[in-house]
Amino acid sequence: MSGTTCRVALPVPALKPYAYAVPASLVDRVVPGARVVVPVRSRALVGVVLRVEAGETDGLKSVLLAPDAQPLMPGGLVELGAWISRYYVTPIGITLRAMLPSALWGASRLMASLIGPETASRGASLDVVMALDRMGGRASASALQRRLGRPVWDVLQRLARLEVVSLETEPPSLGPRVGSERVIVLTTPLPSLLERERTFGRAARQRAAFEAIDSLGGEASYTHLRRQLGFSTGVLNALVTRSVARVEQRERLRDPFAGIGPTAPITPTEGQRDAIRQLSETPPGGGATLFGVTGSGKTLVYLESVRAEVERGRGAVVLVPEISLTPQTIARVRGVFGDTVAVLHSGLSDGERADAWRGLASGQRRVAVGARSAVFAPVRDLAAIIVDEEHDASYKHGESPRYHARDVALHRARLEGARVVLGSATPSLETWANQGQLRVVSLPERVEARPLPAVVLVDMRAEQSVAESGALPWSVPLDDAVRAELEAQNQIILLLNRRGFAQLLQCPDCGHVRECPHCSISVTVHHTPYRLRCHYCGFDEPVPEVCAECGGQTQRTKGVGTQQLEQWLAQRFPNARLARMDADTTSAKWSHQRILGAVGKRQVDILLGTQMISKGLDFPGVTLVGVVDADTALHLPDFRAAERTFQLIAQVAGRAGRGPEGGRVFVQTRTPDHYALQAAARHDYRGFAAQELESRTDPPYPPTVGLTNVVVSGVKETVVADAACALADWVRGLVSSRTDGSVDVVGPAPAPLARIKRRWRWHLALRSSDRALLDRVVRYAARRAPHTGSPAVRVTFDRDPVSLL
Ligand code: ADP
Ligand code: ZN
Repeated sequence: MSGTTCRVALPVPALKPYAYAVPASLVDRVVPGARVVVPVRSRALVGVVLRVEAGETDGLKSVLLAPDAQPLMPGGLVELGAWISRYYVTPIGITLRAMLPSALWGASRLMASLIGPETASRGASLDVVMALDRMGGRASASALQRRLGRPVWDVLQRLARLEVVSLETEPPSLGPRVGSERVIVLTTPLPSLLERERTFGRAARQRAAFEAIDSLGGEASYTHLRRQLGFSTGVLNALVTRSVARVEQRERLRDPFAGIGPTAPITPTEGQRDAIRQLSETPPGGGATLFGVTGSGKTLVYLESVRAEVERGRGAVVLVPEISLTPQTIARVRGVFGDTVAVLHSGLSDGERADAWRGLASGQRRVAVGARSAVFAPVRDLAAIIVDEEHDASYKHGESPRYHARDVALHRARLEGARVVLGSATPSLETWANQGQLRVVSLPERVEARPLPAVVLVDMRAEQSVAESGALPWSVPLDDAVRAELEAQNQIILLLNRRGFAQLLQCPDCGHVRECPHCSISVTVHHTPYRLRCHYCGFDEPVPEVCAECGGQTQRTKGVGTQQLEQWLAQRFPNARLARMDADTTSAKWSHQRILGAVGKRQVDILLGTQMISKGLDFPGVTLVGVVDADTALHLPDFRAAERTFQLIAQVAGRAGRGPEGGRVFVQTRTPDHYALQAAARHDYRGFAAQELESRTDPPYPPTVGLTNVVVSGVKETVVADAACALADWVRGLVSSRTDGSVDVVGPAPAPLARIKRRWRWHLALRSSDRALLDRVVRYAARRAPHTGSPAVRVTFDRDPVSLL
């Protein structure tokens, strides 16, 4: 029989969407982007309609129910999902899982609630209504079905239309319940080293706990201190007994964004006005790059460039790196767009995320602000997508689909006729090389004509180090500068892009370096708590007393990390108030907001940390930035090593001198002649980009060519190696028989990180300047190549990778 059929995406790794028949009673609701409940084997699952078409319905099961009166995903998003699925060679179900809040579909249960008077009900409807009533007015569809012993879908659908019941999906687990938690709060500041010595004497663990809480902004949850940082209850309670801390009961998950009001409007400078005008001339579907030096006031510019449209009722998406999602940013966005803003942040519970999604899909809210996945926010009548700090690596998703939010933004804008603004002081080379499509709008000066800070490259091969600093690179010029700024009561930022106490533990006798048993990488030495840890898989073990290889009695640490820097600073500048920001001090919810809040209130003299502190921070009190070791990422075997280093140095340097006091920057390095460092010291992005683009032509790397990294992984080393070789042979055969050979196959070879989480890794790279051809080869290979479906190895295709490690 012919009738209406639909294709439905379900949260399973099937390559093709499932087909169902649409019963006549549901034809008006089964539209692209709407959710449906469909039978899959003996279960009923929630899926999303991709297409509706006339066709043969014989042999097809029927859609059971369509809960949404309005499609939950606007049409453009469904199309976007299809593109992502194709381009990033990921099954549509897995793609939608990354796009939609988990609470809205998939393994969710369908819940029916009585909302209206049941007077109109008769027969089967009445049975269902009465059963629901007996079940407390609310029950899952499957529970109802069990109770009545027959299918209830069509009845529920009818009752929903009569507004007697409402239908909602509910995730299988509701996430963390809002409750209260125990928080330990420091009551006595003990700013100087001397006072700490006096208070704690030989109670080293208590002192460590005190300092850990201090570096978390003066308060931390018990659970965090015990589980993540390894302090015992005894140690924590001793702080209370000593009267340096007290315990409080706090409501959990207080949303730090909830109460933030708008900031006062700012009048744009002439340069900003000009940029705003140029950006608003971008044609619909197109994009522009806002290239503005650090502190040039880019935020105001790109928000203002779309204000008029939002005031007319259109929508916008503002993407920021997760770490920049601070109250400061939110206040600025609210300052321009008012309270029509929905903030999508990682602290939302599943239910809150679903609510925010509905608020946007219904048009109640028009502007979405969030990290990477906010590019999928169901904003209606989308006028613009803004990508702040577009060069940031966090825009790339680390698992399937391995999408890049910037590229998705450009594609989405094309589909929906919106404009894109990519903002950065250090644009990615992909963006910079794409000036044919992305017009560059410049802001060459800082607001209020403040100069960019002077940058000094300190040559650590020649420069004298402070005698007591040991393994820590700490030159006399940096030491003098820190002391001078502390005396002048200014603030200081110190970057060291390596967390933990030391990078590795080595036996001086036999040279043995302690490695993670699951990954081919040295374990990092941590001091709070005193453990060895793997930064890839989380493996952790006690620090061994003797060398595992030769039994040697002493062991040395190499490669200084942030914990060691903090310890050094506390000794060297005992009166300075320190705050450390890295993945270890920010693992608790909102802790990075807390730390930055303290810096903003000038309760911190020195903020030290990893690349986290290089992004977007705007503190006018900061007059000095020190880069303790600029070489940490420079020699990684990755084609973006120089670009990353340039961005990191230029960005962190940009935190200095945002106030009337001016600023300066010291960069400690053993390779002061490297062009990335030289260019960063001159604030010369254009010069760096020209040289780096040149170096990416031979051997060719993006953006000169398109690149796809194919990673083969598995637990057996030989199986992985064989599979990688077979795959490479197959791809080479494909390329030579089906193309004119203009796709390069590089490899296979063991990946630089040869083993992660017990899985061995080999890779091969496909590159070509003919991107359409590369696209066809990758898509064909993802479906047909050997081992792509095999259980012993996993083959992933990473298109436009941000790293080849
Ligand atoms: P960028 O992102 O380019 O580094 P920001 O957008 O963070 O710069 O702006 C830097 C600082 O300048 C912020 O504190 C901002 O409030 C301020 N600012 C921006 N525009 C103006 C203006 N027209 N007048 C005065 N202050 C401004
Ligand atoms: Zn590991």
